[in-house]
Amino acid sequence: MTTTLITNIGELTTNVGVPGDVCGTIHAAAVLIDDDRIAWAGAAADAPSASATVDAGGRAVIPGFVDSHTHLVFGGDRADEFEARMSGTPYAAGGIRRTVAATRAATDAELRERLAGFVAELHGQGTTTFEVKTGYGLTVDDEARLARLAAEVTDEVTFLGAHVLPTEYTDRRDQYVDLVCGEMLAACAPHSRWIDVFCETGAFTSGEARRILDAGKARGLRARVHGNQLGHGEGVRLAVAVDAASVDHCTYLDDEDVAALAASDTVATLLPGVEFSTRQPYPDARRLLDARVTVALASDCNPGSSFTSSMPLMVALAVREMNMTVTEAVWAATAGGARALRRDDIGAIAPGMRADLVLLDAPTRIHLAYRPGVPLVRTVWKDGVVL
Ligand SMILES: [Zn+2]
Repeated sequence: MTTTLITNIGELTTNVGVPGDVCGTIHAAAVLIDDDRIAWAGAAADAPSASATVDAGGRAVIPGFVDSHTHLVFGGDRADEFEARMSGTPYAAGGIRRTVAATRAATDAELRERLAGFVAELHGQGTTTFEVKTGYGLTVDDEARLARLAAEVTDEVTFLGAHVLPTEYTDRRDQYVDLVCGEMLAACAPHSRWIDVFCETGAFTSGEARRILDAGKARGLRARVHGNQLGHGEGVRLAVAVDAASVDHCTYLDDEDVAALAASDTVATLLPGVEFSTRQPYPDARRLLDARVTVALASDCNPGSSFTSSMPLMVALAVREMNMTVTEAVWAATAGGARALRRDDIGAIAPGMRADLVLLDAPTRIHLAYRPGVPLVRTVWKDGVVL
């Protein structure tokens, strides 16, 4: 049996919270990996022996990032739209249709190659678990194809047939919702763990979203919601009502939304790459944290509103732009993401957890926010294997 001891860790973020430190920080620490699991974590002086040793050189180790919200199976590019927006054109949800056209035109091989590139990008930035949504096919065959391709790279596949109303259904909304709840869901459910709906003005109403989420749950999928991104909508209250694992964006909330989240098991997933890339106001993370809502950070990597896969950037934005502490932000990007995927085997460095860890080229996790844009990921272990 192979065991590896990572020792001489200057600062270990375990996420086994203690009063006053949700990150459960241990200095002068060590971690023992046994096969694909963490066997032990604690003070280096107390470390058990192992068949192999890695010297961390006083650097920091954190759990692998958990990116609970991405849209990585797509064709095309929308750099021109980004440039226009930066020159003053406002963001509108309809740009998704451009990507739908390009995705439908792409071959499986093209989509698979692109996806493999994104996976390498994620791993290189310390992300060890990531969710991938469909939503750029919007026909039965194309959505099933995207779900199948996503399932080749992750267990966390989300069926998002209700991303935007496809152009060919402009005057037949009800027929499209019927299709999503029926044939399209049936084709995608075997490849998916989750069902998601874009509940927003310009996308789907809360009534439509409720029908779709209920249909998905009846097929064994679990719910997540895109909500309250562009205005005060009903997405958050819908998410809580259906016990969604997460409601994502949460940029525009009223007191009732915050209270509903605080009283629920639904995670508020904040996606600051979107506000950065669309020049919208950031969500009020402090209000959520002060109300004891569980907060996650994710990239929302997609070609329209946030074409970045960098979780370190999300941490930096959360700290700089949303007044989260570094500790809160790193927890939200790791343990918070795990909660948003309802996973209890990732997001922490403790016995029995999957051995998903990141060795930073830095003495402390603070550098993730203090040195924005700098590649600080030195070594990544996924299931105990160095990537
Ligand atoms: Zn999204």
